[in-house]
Amino acid sequence: MNIHEYQAKKLLASYGAPVAKGIPIFSKEEARKAAEELGGPLWVVKSQIHAGGRGKGKFKELPEDAKGGVRLAFDLDEMQAHVDEMLGNTLVTKQTGPAGKQVNQLYLEDGADIERELYLSLLVDRVTGQVAFVVSTEGGMDIEAVAEETPEKIHNISIDPDAGVTEANASAICDALKLDGDARADGMKLFPILYKAFTEKDMSLLEINPLIVMKDGHLRVLDAKVSFDGNALFRHPDIVELRDLTEEDDKEIEASKYDLAYIALDGTIGCMVNGAGLAMSTMDIIKLYGEEPANFLDVGGGANAEKVTAAFKIITADPNVKGILVNIFGGIMRCDVIAEGVLTAVKEVGLDVPLVVRLEGTKVAEGKKLIEESGLNVIPADDLDDAAQKIVAAVKGA
Ligand code: GDP
Ligand code: MG
Repeated sequence: MNIHEYQAKKLLASYGAPVAKGIPIFSKEEARKAAEELGGPLWVVKSQIHAGGRGKGKFKELPEDAKGGVRLAFDLDEMQAHVDEMLGNTLVTKQTGPAGKQVNQLYLEDGADIERELYLSLLVDRVTGQVAFVVSTEGGMDIEAVAEETPEKIHNISIDPDAGVTEANASAICDALKLDGDARADGMKLFPILYKAFTEKDMSLLEINPLIVMKDGHLRVLDAKVSFDGNALFRHPDIVELRDLTEEDDKEIEASKYDLAYIALDGTIGCMVNGAGLAMSTMDIIKLYGEEPANFLDVGGGANAEKVTAAFKIITADPNVKGILVNIFGGIMRCDVIAEGVLTAVKEVGLDVPLVVRLEGTKVAEGKKLIEESGLNVIPADDLDDAAQKIVAAVKGA
């Protein structure tokens, strides 16, 4: 689950991290009062969407040469003009895809005088199995490009979970970021704070790009992107409250109501599979035969007919879906239950695209029989390879 920049900053500030004063606004009328309260003389008007690269983004409704989604204002009229132009319009950035995202909220912030822009993130390093700080002096820009062109400028400092962030760790991060004086003292305090927030709140990513050294020599968190581990949300009701459903995919919201692990993708073949591993290999084999999956969907081990019906409806509601592949290994889950769910769903929502069903395992004969006798236009398959080839051929032929 992701949250907005202003929410992330509020959370980090509650742990003691240095952030600017700021006020979120939801309407044009609120702007002037909020800006007066902040006082100036420099304001930053920041689009709040769940995507990065806002500064370099473009608004769909504005001329090509208009400013991006993060703007500086030096007086109140300029501030209001930015608010009027940005609020309600659609911002397209490197991370939103071509459709862009509508800007429904802005964050007005006290502007900072920047000396240097640094990059800092915390993530779970799969190689070491530890939380790692990834830092670079090349902040504020596209970190993927830095990683590509000058990988030696990115430093990785892993944290031993038993010890937490030691003096030596914090010092190493300061060295990597070339911090001295007040900035170094700030860093020695800030890094353990960020680690504490990361672990206590079960974050999966905390990215500060940029962390800045200001002209006065101190550090400040200038941008903040936080993702939380969805599987740990049950123990963080305070975080769940920050969820903004308007930023999420409608199909994913619907799937979460039925406890289905569903992720929307860009391809043409809708997949209904049980087990994350089988779902991954199903996606791989679709790609191997030259098509792209429209989604990842794991209906889970204990799915019933109702769940299968819901899953089927979510898949068919996606206009990009040109064919559906149901690939179920019946273990705890019985093949006849799956078949029944699929048939119920087809009867309810209709079937306009080819459907290939591959069943294997418990009660497979009963499952296959149900499908055969239904009279519906379902293409049966015997194994995964056969199933993938059949659905790809059906989609390509269509
Ligand atoms: P992003 O484009 O979505 O990553 O948004 P950021 O919050 O990182 O802002 C983009 C850029 O705007 C930063 O890299 C800064 O160069 C600039 N910026 C943001 N806030 C301030 C500020 O308070 N003062 C100044 N001078 N520049 C800022
Ligand atoms: Mg940024």
